[in-house]
Amino acid sequence: MAFEGLTERLQNAFSKLRRKGKVSESDVRDAMREIRLALLEADVNFKVVKDFVKEVREKAIGSEVLDSLTPAQQIVKIVNDELVKTMGAEAVPLNKAPHIPTVIMMAGLQGAGKTTTVGKLAKYLQENEHARPLLIAADVYRPAAIKQLQVVGESVGAPVFEMGTDTDPREIVRQGMAQAAANHNDYVLIDTAGRLQIDAKLMQELQDIKEIAHPNEILLTVDAMTGQAAVDVAQGFNEQLDITGVVLTKLDGDTRGGAALSIRSVTGKPIKFIGQGEKMDALDVFYPDRMANRILGMGDMLTLIDKAQKNFDEQQAAEVAEKIQANTFDFNDFIDQMDQVQSMGGIEDIMKMIPGMANNPQLKNMHVDPKDMDHMKAIVYSMTEKERTNPELLNPSRRRRIAAGSGRPVLEVNRMIKQFKQARDMMNKMSKGNMGGMEQMMGG
Ligand code: GDP
Repeated sequence: MAFEGLTERLQNAFSKLRRKGKVSESDVRDAMREIRLALLEADVNFKVVKDFVKEVREKAIGSEVLDSLTPAQQIVKIVNDELVKTMGAEAVPLNKAPHIPTVIMMAGLQGAGKTTTVGKLAKYLQENEHARPLLIAADVYRPAAIKQLQVVGESVGAPVFEMGTDTDPREIVRQGMAQAAANHNDYVLIDTAGRLQIDAKLMQELQDIKEIAHPNEILLTVDAMTGQAAVDVAQGFNEQLDITGVVLTKLDGDTRGGAALSIRSVTGKPIKFIGQGEKMDALDVFYPDRMANRILGMGDMLTLIDKAQKNFDEQQAAEVAEKIQANTFDFNDFIDQMDQVQSMGGIEDIMKMIPGMANNPQLKNMHVDPKDMDHMKAIVYSMTEKERTNPELLNPSRRRRIAAGSGRPVLEVNRMIKQFKQARDMMNKMSKGNMGGMEQMMGG
């Protein structure tokens, strides 16, 4: 699976921070050291790592983060935002020609997945834009290349223009463009030759083809599995050819993440698509935010943090924390907390967003009926103000009165009071530094 090592190491670093509760500057420095190593081991470009770590450290060390009640969560968010930024922030759409055809020239080293990507792109354009692309076979050096493009073209139902292997690729492109004009194709995808490494002859040929075809896009396919080498290739091609974008292939494989994270910063050119398999439908638009989620392995955890921050009143939360510590958390607070959970979409939704929880079999069977929450509220509302702030007053006769008032059985009233006390005691223990229970809950 892609990014496994990186994801695991980042999660470890966050997990250590979460266990701290209160996070100091030196904790942040330790975490940043681990994150730095994790990125370097994932084969991220050295300079990219340096800038990344510097940015995150500066943002994380501010008092706003460290003095907040959720420093670890906020640091996760900062790392995520920085990952997104490093990868270019937004998805970059394909350039379009003002008049048809839009010409896309594909380049890349042999084996990177260029020919496969031509087929995938044709299918993508057919499906998303009802396009009628013409594929031009301009790789005359690898004998099987033309045949391969024909097979790919046939499988997606796109015509292939070819002139065998004896014609100069420049001439093939010239005639192919004429054919596209005659047939009113709205896209032309040119499959150019690859080499095992960048050489002068290859570059000259590509520059000539660029002159002839005036491509709106020059997309470079690079193999994500080759890590830093992919970045070097991208840089080399970009210097010679001024590419417009990158297709990062083989992200379904055991990649370390280095290429995905470095290409944009190093070349200044966006990754536009990612290849995630050999089949023709395994091409996806590259979204930096989704990729960052994937690298962090956080699932929807970040959505949850966002939601929590929106619904989270630091002042109010500080008061609750104080009450928990002083063990004066009462039924009024309980109701407030319940309202907050409900405004975030309910406890089930929240639990499912925690990493490792979505597939938890116990959770599958968990069902929190919104009615249960309403019943609990009804019980609390039937208490007097004194009872709410001092649950110890709740003797059997008071409980019977509350049951009658709320229309719930005494048994349920008893159960709820017991649960409340258990929760209060657990929170109190956790607030005194025993975070074991919380760590388990957070899948850390
Ligand atoms: P080219 O020499 O650059 O034209 O590369 P090809 O298109 O011939 O691809 C080389 C190999 O990589 C073929 O076996 C493809 O099936 C495979 N390939 C291409 N893209 C992907 C991808 O995104 N994922 C996986 N797993 N394999 C891919």
